[in-house]
Amino acid sequence: MRRFAVGGRLFPLVFLAVYLAVDWVTFIHDPPAINITPWNPPAGLYLALLLAGRRGAAALTFAALMLGDLVVRGTPAPVPVLAASNLLIVLSYGTGIWLLSRRPQFSSGLGRLYDVVWLVIMVPAAAVPAALGFTLPYMAAGALPWAGLPAIVAQYWVGDVIAILTVTPFLLLRFHRTPDNGPRRSPVETALHGLAVAAALAVTFNPLVPDPSKILYILFLPIIWVAMRRGLAGTTAAVPAIQVGVIIGLSVVPGHWQDLTYYQTVMVALAGTGLLVGAVVSERWRLEISLGQRRAELSRVGRLSLIGEMASSLAHELNQPLFTTIGYTRSCRQLLVRGGDRDAILDLMDRAAAEAERAAGVLRSIRGFLRQDGQPGEVELKAALDGILGFVRPDIRRLGITLAADLPAGLPPLWIDAVQLDQVLLNLLRNSIDALASRESRDGPGRIAVTAAQSGRMVEISVSDTGPGVPDDKVGPLFDLFFTTKSSGMGLGLPICRSIVEAHGGRLWLAGNGPEGACFSFTLPMAGHHA
Ligand code: ADP
Repeated sequence: MRRFAVGGRLFPLVFLAVYLAVDWVTFIHDPPAINITPWNPPAGLYLALLLAGRRGAAALTFAALMLGDLVVRGTPAPVPVLAASNLLIVLSYGTGIWLLSRRPQFSSGLGRLYDVVWLVIMVPAAAVPAALGFTLPYMAAGALPWAGLPAIVAQYWVGDVIAILTVTPFLLLRFHRTPDNGPRRSPVETALHGLAVAAALAVTFNPLVPDPSKILYILFLPIIWVAMRRGLAGTTAAVPAIQVGVIIGLSVVPGHWQDLTYYQTVMVALAGTGLLVGAVVSERWRLEISLGQRRAELSRVGRLSLIGEMASSLAHELNQPLFTTIGYTRSCRQLLVRGGDRDAILDLMDRAAAEAERAAGVLRSIRGFLRQDGQPGEVELKAALDGILGFVRPDIRRLGITLAADLPAGLPPLWIDAVQLDQVLLNLLRNSIDALASRESRDGPGRIAVTAAQSGRMVEISVSDTGPGVPDDKVGPLFDLFFTTKSSGMGLGLPICRSIVEAHGGRLWLAGNGPEGACFSFTLPMAGHHA
């Protein structure tokens, strides 16, 4: 378990001061002044201390319990009785926590559902021996009647359990700075959550309701709402708010204070349910994030293997222009030695330069491919498309192509690196333009259509054309590196597009193909829903 340090060497003093203050404020000062109350927040404090695994936590807890009895409650029983009671409490919870700490996966930072489930199991279980252990020495000493044992133990149990479930998770999450992982919520929604808690309390506790205990279940609604939207962190704030609200409600609306133990029992159910739902929601967020990281890793690995493949193809691709260049320069040299024709020499030199250019071009495009390290962000498809059209408009005009972009209104923004989206769109549009340019002119002017539609958390974008389509035998290697049917092609466009799209969690595929044209589709995540 992780240790935390607050206040350094002064921590024990700070803890004792806070403990006594909380004990004083929350202790119900009715006689007998024995620490059996259905609302015992100090228990939440020492449980957090014990769970955080600070050295000397057990001794400090014992000291706090003793001081509480001596100072706040004015020594309600002989000191040995107090000492025996408090020792048994520390032993009970200490054993519960020791058993938890033996589970290697358990972390008191409550970062995972597993931790919260075990906490919610351990606390009520350890509170049973704690309640008995605390009560029995008093009874043995005659300070409490034996006949009252079941009721007293039940009251002690409920007071401890609700206090621990209310206070401890709140403190542990903050001390450990457990990451929230959840989406950010607007201040308006936060205000609405607060309002919902207040409204549920106001509906339950008001003079018009003769028996608030009958409609106490209303309090479950805001807690479930908060848990669903804000995960564990939000729930650990809402549970104390409701708990304090119930205490205030009971003291304001007369005639129900004697039922405090019943109310607290319902609160135990509420806190337990809220914490578990909140933990499930937080767990989902955590898994979504780790899934996203795994996916990014996978695409990085995919790209590395692509690079490996590329390296061998690269050697092959560069060989040819380099050998041709060498051939041309050698011929030049021979011609010069022999005093050959000047024009022939110049022609050979031009050819050598053009071949070297070709080799440089291969390298340039590979560098562009490897530099896929942009940061994704929110990108509007329409704006990206408008920007790209500037590049291709001259060709579109020259070839008399009609370009229709049919983007539905209200299409959500995409989550991608803007430059990379440009790269994908430009590649696909250029391929369509090339395909249309290669057709016979008698087929009439060609058409390119860009469409988009939302599908779940993704947006599907398609670029289709009325070109000749991809011949059947070329469909297989279409996405292979350096596969091209064009004399000036590189065969890098489609593999690059696919790698970009997959790096963002999407897919790219040949969605339609035939003599009437080809259609390439790809998906990208919506902003706000990316993993
Ligand atoms: P390049 O454009 O450099 O050839 P690409 O990877 O972009 O490289 O494309 C590979 C091949 O896929 C092209 O040479 C072409 O044969 C085929 N292709 C791509 N898009 C289309 C299309 N819209 N219509 C027909 N064939 C296409």
